[in-house]
Amino acid sequence: MSTIFGPVHSRRFGVSLGIDLSSSTKQCNFDCLYCELAPAPAMAHQHTITPVETIITDLQEALINHPAIDVITITANGEPTMYPYLSELINQIDQMKGNIQTLILSNSACLSDENVFNSLLKLDQVKLSLDAATPETFKKIDRPADGIEISAIIESIIQFSRVFNGKLFLEILFVKGINDTPDEVAALNTALLDIHCERIDIGTIDRPPAYAVQGLRFDELYTLSHDFDPSLPIHIVSRTHAQVLPSSYSDSEILTTLDKRPLTRDDIDALFDTDSKERFQILLNQGKIAQIERTNVIFFTPSENINRKRSK
Ligand code: SF4
Repeated sequence: MSTIFGPVHSRRFGVSLGIDLSSSTKQCNFDCLYCELAPAPAMAHQHTITPVETIITDLQEALINHPAIDVITITANGEPTMYPYLSELINQIDQMKGNIQTLILSNSACLSDENVFNSLLKLDQVKLSLDAATPETFKKIDRPADGIEISAIIESIIQFSRVFNGKLFLEILFVKGINDTPDEVAALNTALLDIHCERIDIGTIDRPPAYAVQGLRFDELYTLSHDFDPSLPIHIVSRTHAQVLPSSYSDSEILTTLDKRPLTRDDIDALFDTDSKERFQILLNQGKIAQIERTNVIFFTPSENINRKRSK
């Protein structure tokens, strides 16, 4: 089985070739309630390890067949930072990647390991998950292997965000009744204010989960997004926009809404009725609304907010 998959077209990251560092079986130090893979007990270390040479050979072949790639994404059937030769693998990818970006999708659990921390510093883009900020909720939603503590994870993400020269993204996946409580969101908000990142994607379950849990509707995610500090670059990622009934917004309501939380075109299509979309377009043409780009995603915000600095 090849260790390479794709290319996959992602609106957020471009055309991606994926590397699966655990292609034959799930190996993860979490056993998340929402995992798209089958449930499996969390493990501290990989037991089945693919040689670096195999991955590099597969990647060379894939790049010959698909030269127009934006990003090489390091991922796994599980957690890619558990791969023991990650540093060596990244060094070898760097020698052959040319202008292609490197990206890893990680659950953040190994970031307090110095070798993993330093390996991730060598990448162009890093996406880290942070589903909870309190120990109780963390254990409930991510079901980590013994010895993994959320306080150490948050501390290592903060430290990483201070020294990483590439683009750092965070992702929070909300599960109904588990990590969407006001107390948990407040704890997440406090943690996020100390992390410097390009974007914080908040989303929910949109594929069959490992356990019997439910996601949030788009309108619930949207409401919840207002509980985060407005200075945080929150981006709602949801395929369930269509479940929302569009509403009528006056000019001032449009500006107030965008002031509280910059919105994407998808958000606007879901939230605004036809007349409100026309009013939005007029405000945009008049220059009262501006576009800002955060790593391939366009947000709309009142023009007067453009120079607003993060309060913290
Ligand atoms: S970290 Fe990812 S692969 Fe591991 S259990 Fe959670 S969702 Fe599944």
